[in-house]
Amino acid sequence: MTTNVTADTAAPLVEMRGVQKHFGDFQALKDIDLDVARGEVVVVIGPSGSGKSTLCRTINRLETITEGTIRVDGRDLPQEGAALARLRSDVGMVFQSFNLFAHLTILDNVTLGPIRVRGLKKAEAEAEAMRLLDRVGVAHQAQKFPAQLSGGQQQRVAIARSLAMKPKLMLFDEPTSALDPEMINEVLDTMVELAEEGMTMVVVTHEMGFARKAAHRVVFMADGEIVEVAEPERFFTDPQSDRAKDFLSKIL
Ligand code: ADP
Ligand code: MG
Repeated sequence: MTTNVTADTAAPLVEMRGVQKHFGDFQALKDIDLDVARGEVVVVIGPSGSGKSTLCRTINRLETITEGTIRVDGRDLPQEGAALARLRSDVGMVFQSFNLFAHLTILDNVTLGPIRVRGLKKAEAEAEAMRLLDRVGVAHQAQKFPAQLSGGQQQRVAIARSLAMKPKLMLFDEPTSALDPEMINEVLDTMVELAEEGMTMVVVTHEMGFARKAAHRVVFMADGEIVEVAEPERFFTDPQSDRAKDFLSKIL
């Protein structure tokens, strides 16, 4: 098998094969096989502790894996150095906690990566950042600091900041679970727009409305395994496994 060759555009953007992740004696991921096609939106759901965050974190190598292979855009995940930095630009991640830099303005939060990592000039990075902030509806907040924004606004800034790195793939790990209910939809709407524009996305969420609207496939995890994969309508109306039925009976 050849490695480090750019895949043709028909090949999946993410290919996970036989992925195992152990934390000491505890196995958090068990034999995960998952492809994510270019432009595909995959929603990952499952009970707390089932390995959803760990799965996301392995894709941008925030977690190393114990066994198996993960390829992104035809390349095995790099170990370190410039290649790892490039992977982190290619694979954006938005977390439950917005993780903005508190001491930087909204604008500086978004331009930091493009200036440092992509090597853009300040003016160029700022023009691009303003376009992205406008797209997520917070351009008028550009000179403020994160604490002056609502949670929903901060999360939209976090999305803009990831997009500023021109990612090929976006990972979202429960992006709305820390938000007050009235702010959830403004973030989900931004994500739906991103999906409609063709961004490849892996989204861990309990927001079934989002899954129904935007997901091409739902991946249901339990105990570190992928138990069921289905189109959303099918998954929500006719889950096949007992564990999925049980989970859905508790959340729906
Ligand atoms: P989920 O996101 O589905 O709630 P996680 O991926 O966060 O689940 O965690 C899966 C399992 O792995 C949990 O049992 C969790 O306690 C364990 N785990 C996650 N991260 C670590 C870690 N750094 N060290 C030890 N155990 C961990
Ligand atoms: Mg989690």
